[in-house]
Amino acid sequence: MSKKLLAYQETDKKLKEIENTLNASEEKKQMFIAYKYISGVSEVIAKLDKTAEDLLNKFNFAISKQNELSEELKEITSELDEVRDENEANYMLKKVDELLSALKSLEANIEKINESMAQVKSEYGAIRAKTKQAQDQYKEYAEKFKALQDGVANEIKAINAELAKLKKDIKPELMQKYDAKRKDKIFPVLFALSGDKCGSCGMALSMKDISELESGEVVECDNCRALVYKA
Ligand SMILES: [Zn+2]
Repeated sequence: MSKKLLAYQETDKKLKEIENTLNASEEKKQMFIAYKYISGVSEVIAKLDKTAEDLLNKFNFAISKQNELSEELKEITSELDEVRDENEANYMLKKVDELLSALKSLEANIEKINESMAQVKSEYGAIRAKTKQAQDQYKEYAEKFKALQDGVANEIKAINAELAKLKKDIKPELMQKYDAKRKDKIFPVLFALSGDKCGSCGMALSMKDISELESGEVVECDNCRALVYKA
């Protein structure tokens, strides 16, 4: 059994090498960078939406406060003519001063909110531009990557045909174990016994495993889960 699985792995190695080359390609890298940006952008926009909403609430509040104070100021100013004594006049002038000062600081506050709103707007614009750029990049490199894949498609097909042939002689449960590890990006899957130790992690194997190995079977290392055979 071990020789057959080893032959399978040797052929599978060619497939793995092609996969590695494709995965390490600049095309794939650029696709991934663009994909990462695009998939993260909605979160950025949601945060910005929240900021914009908060700013708008602050702005509306400041404007209504401004109207309120302006009304109050108008009222007091109109009552100034009817002032009867100095005390009253002083009180009202003080009130006018206070209102003017409050209005001034409100105006400064509104100005600040406006600046922040402009900033948010420009961030929206930048994100829109960057998203468009990332979408274009993704499209461009996805096409290039597809061309790379097409270039090795025949080779992959031939290897898969060979693998399918080899697979027929391997116990299904062993093949399942191999496939599962392969899917988890573990490669090589099958290691030669080294003395009485697992060739992958160096852990000593049990007597039971050793005796199975002697009879040409493949065992799974209890420690690292690698498949082990005896050469
Ligand atoms: Zn091991």
